[in-house]
Amino acid sequence: MVVNLSALPPVEIGDATGFVRLHRRELDLVQPVAASHGEHRSRRVLIVEVGNGKSCGWGECGAPDDASYTGETADAAAAFLADISPSSFAGRAPVTATMVRSLVSAIDGDACSRHPMAVAALEMAVLDAQLRAGETAFESLFGVTPKRAATAGATLGNMPANATDASVVIDAVVRHALDAVAAGYSRLKLKIGPGLHTTELVRELRAVIAEDVMLLGDANGAYGIDDVGHVASLGELGLEIVEQPFAPHDTASHQALVATGAIRVALDEGVRSAHDALDALANHECTDVTLKPARFGYLACVEALVKLADHGAGAWIGGMFDTGVARWANVRLAAHPSVTLASDIGASDRYWVYDLTAPVTASAGLVAVPGVRRPGLSGVPFDT
Ligand SMILES: [Mg+2]
Repeated sequence: MVVNLSALPPVEIGDATGFVRLHRRELDLVQPVAASHGEHRSRRVLIVEVGNGKSCGWGECGAPDDASYTGETADAAAAFLADISPSSFAGRAPVTATMVRSLVSAIDGDACSRHPMAVAALEMAVLDAQLRAGETAFESLFGVTPKRAATAGATLGNMPANATDASVVIDAVVRHALDAVAAGYSRLKLKIGPGLHTTELVRELRAVIAEDVMLLGDANGAYGIDDVGHVASLGELGLEIVEQPFAPHDTASHQALVATGAIRVALDEGVRSAHDALDALANHECTDVTLKPARFGYLACVEALVKLADHGAGAWIGGMFDTGVARWANVRLAAHPSVTLASDIGASDRYWVYDLTAPVTASAGLVAVPGVRRPGLSGVPFDT
């Protein structure tokens, strides 16, 4: 392990005062999110709190309400954690973040692959508790000097629900893009795919936004091998990076697209760990790495960032629909100098009517990093 946690005190979860608490909260969204059966106007988030009478730590599970991302849902993650947490920690007074995966696996062999986001949330909470107990900032684990501010990317709002008229969709996305650029964001992420008017959208966006604003399209695996030429043509129109163009494990299509050299390629659903992401890079399936701490865990992401420095590839921190608990943690991770591209850490008020924590705020597309005077990893909820 590259990251050295030996100086941090373990957390005594398993003693009489120890606890693992799960908190579910319904948070209102600023913009409704389109779903196959209509719209979501709120999300029911899952927060994990661990600790004892002396200290506590916070984690957030990134699993969405439905199974459309990788199949893991927040409800299933909550049920799994409620079931496994007492037996994971009972009688094991000193617990560290590096023990969490082996403790969980000892009880439920393949839990880390069935519930990666639930396990990552538990590990995050234990790591946060250790850092707070040791009065240590997460950035201190990097072994290199962190950046003072992290570059935030903006995710453009969803299309109007059920809009089939191309001009309605394009007008809405362009309006969101211009608002984000006016707010100082230098990277915009939009959903792309068959039926989403992608070619017209990219052409229109490139016509109205400055050349130095990076455009990233997330396809969520919607394209197939016959679309390699089409996706490459989006690169020629000015889409700089495509995220997960083809289905997970469609190695041949990803390699074919990378070989065109027309567009940068990053994987999301297609990698199950930070280690996988580095392998995909070496295997020419991608040109850049998206590190998703909600799926991989923060410690694995730091390890991957240390290794990335040797590869010279671009990297950014990928987000889910994070509350301030994980959003602040992602800001801290995005302060690593090997994060070279804008991360999914846009301001809280782009997503939530009220966040659970002090909101993440961006100025000119930058988010100030909490820094070494603020021990811990996660944002702390006002109340749960
Ligand atoms: Mg994605």
